[in-house]
Amino acid sequence: MTKEEKAVYDRAYRARPGNKEAKKAYNNQSEVREAHAAADKAWKATEEGKISKKATALKVRCTRVGITVEYYDSLPKKCSFPRCNALKAGGMGDWHMDHNKITGKFRGLLCFTHNRKVSDLTLEEAEGVVEYLKSVDV
Ligand SMILES: [Zn+2]
Repeated sequence: MTKEEKAVYDRAYRARPGNKEAKKAYNNQSEVREAHAAADKAWKATEEGKISKKATALKVRCTRVGITVEYYDSLPKKCSFPRCNALKAGGMGDWHMDHNKITGKFRGLLCFTHNRKVSDLTLEEAEGVVEYLKSVDV
């Protein structure tokens, strides 16, 4: 599927009737629905589609934490956690965009391991973790 064919497909897809009954009717047209799904899958399998999908996903991730793709691109790709020497993100391969879950503000890039450990912690909870670990040091 060429970029132009994909654009035609996308326009037709977006032009689907918006009301609930019409959507239900559309979804009951299995041939049309399957053709759209196949066209979308074929597009995503192309190099251009993969790049587009990846770029869109990055933009969505950046938007969620209030930064631009340009800012993300300017960041050194390394873990921000103290004394972490990870130069690869681990996990699915993308650096984790750590952000304050209350304010939503971006804090830094973390590797998979440190994102799992600190992403949901507040400063108070982190201090509690330190206090706990010191108290049970065995
Ligand atoms: Zn790390």
